[in-house]
Amino acid sequence: MNVAESERMAGQLQAIGYSLTEDFAAADLILLNTCCVRGTAEEKIYGKIGEIKRLKMQKPSLIIGVVGCLAQKDGENLISRSPHLDFVLGTGQRGELANVVKSLEEERRHFVDVSNVSGVVDDENIFPIRAGSVSTFVPIMYGCNNFCTYCIVPYVRGRERSRLPEEIFAEIKNAVASGFKEVTLLGQNVNSYGRDHRLKNFAELLNDVNKISGLERVRFMTSHPKDLSDELIDAIAGGEKICEHIHLPIQHGSNKILQKMNRSYTVEKYLALVEKLRAAVPDISLTTDLIVGFPDETEEDFQTMLDFLREVKFDAAFTFIYSKRSGTPAAKFPNQVDEEIKHRRIYELIELQNKISLEKNLELDGKIFEVLVEGASKTDKNIFTGRTRQNKLVLFPHGSEKIGDLIRVKITQAQTWLLKGIRDFI
Ligand code: SAH
Ligand code: SF4
Repeated sequence: MNVAESERMAGQLQAIGYSLTEDFAAADLILLNTCCVRGTAEEKIYGKIGEIKRLKMQKPSLIIGVVGCLAQKDGENLISRSPHLDFVLGTGQRGELANVVKSLEEERRHFVDVSNVSGVVDDENIFPIRAGSVSTFVPIMYGCNNFCTYCIVPYVRGRERSRLPEEIFAEIKNAVASGFKEVTLLGQNVNSYGRDHRLKNFAELLNDVNKISGLERVRFMTSHPKDLSDELIDAIAGGEKICEHIHLPIQHGSNKILQKMNRSYTVEKYLALVEKLRAAVPDISLTTDLIVGFPDETEEDFQTMLDFLREVKFDAAFTFIYSKRSGTPAAKFPNQVDEEIKHRRIYELIELQNKISLEKNLELDGKIFEVLVEGASKTDKNIFTGRTRQNKLVLFPHGSEKIGDLIRVKITQAQTWLLKGIRDFI
């Protein structure tokens, strides 16, 4: 989400004469687009803010702004703690970025606006500077209404707002016209898309996106299990461009913890969804998010989670240590888990999931997949990378294929995180 929003902010700034640089020292403007979903993300930003103070001293005309979730959360405090910052703009005020920067160019002062967390984000006259050339992100909604008890997102992103379908279509068509082959539709809970404007639900939106000519693949994230409808499963099964992959965060494998997390589903309901998805889309890959060390997680709860992983067999999982976010209900829950125990548990969890990921990938050995070619690998220009429709990373020796081609690759070596293969010609 932040990558997508950074691309949009770069577009806004380009419209008023800025261009991108990777070099901090060369920059006239530094924009820190922040995240505060976990404590570690926050610490990194505070570290970075400290680091760039030196640049401001060397070049007083430099404008430094903080935007995104941490800006929304800490507002004024960011400036009082670090006066070398020029401005702080909240998540609902992203559309104001260009105006704020222009006014600071004219008159230097501290500027903070985090007043409207659920503000309408006017994205429609923005042309993002998109990274890459094959696959790109398109936000379809902002905010979240779910209030999972551990999560700060609803507080720093405001209430759910869905973009209008025609604006989404226009943006995708634009991306396709500039060569992109794959889009990932983004939202905190895409399954509840359209509940506000009621023009289209998510399944209907997907069915329409599936018809956009020139587009080859459609992905989406994130899906909340409580809102995954049969209609959506049909859309995935029926839409030839809709990729056979779903990221469906379970968070925990124990009903006791799920309830305390306010996730509104049980392990049984989740398993029933997985069964339906696998029956309707047999080659679907399934990934998830998991949190260890949520308050009151006992050793037994943790073992229940491991058993659950052995049962579902996710293709991959993002694993997180529970991070206390002040202002969320769980921060005040009794029986917070010791750091040492959390760390031991996450290692055990990762070890098990890695074993399962490898097992799942080994099943793919010898099989042939459609791969969308993304380009040379970082370490070897003779090795190209791409992804299968199931979102598995594939490495293969480069031949005549070009970036953006859809090719067939036969898997010859499966590993935990990636597959290696050779091009298969029919
Ligand atoms: N809207 C998405 C998740 C967005 S945040 C969903 O509900 O699935 C991405 C992931 O960060 C979450 O799925 C969760 O696993 C993790 N996360 C959120 N808050 C956290 C916290 N306080 N501590 C640890 N992990 C957290
Ligand atoms: Fe956070 Fe839950 Fe909303 Fe996801 S659904 S962003 S985890 S509150």
